Amino acid sequence: MSDLHGLTTMGFKAKARKHRQDNGEETEKKATSSVKTGELPCGVKGCEKFADKSMGGRSLSIDDAIDVWGSSGYEERKGRVRVCKSCYRKYKKESKNDDMY
Ligand SMILES: [Zn+2]
Repeated sequence: MSDLHGLTTMGFKAKARKHRQDNGEETEKKATSSVKTGELPCGVKGCEKFADKSMGGRSLSIDDAIDVWGSSGYEERKGRVRVCKSCYRKYKKESKNDDMY
C-alpha cells in the first residue's frame, strides 16, 4: 500500500536560474505535511472530518448518536458511531440538556 513512486522525476535544471532575483518568490509550499488526515471517517453524515483516535475522535453509542443527529443522521459501524472531535463536542453540548437553557 504505497503511493510513493515516481515522485522524484523532476531533476535539476542547472540552466534555469538566469532570471531568478526577486526575493525568491517561490510559492512552492513544501507540501505542508502537517495536514492531518485520518483513516476513520466521521460517522456523522455531511461531516468530512476524521474520527481517528489520534485526532480526538470518539465512538458513541447508537443511542447517543440518535439523540444528537437523529436516527438517520449518522452512520453506524459495528454498533457504534465514530465521530470526529468537533462532532463529539457537539454531542457533549447537546447532551447537556436543559441545564443551560
Ligand atoms: Zn464529524
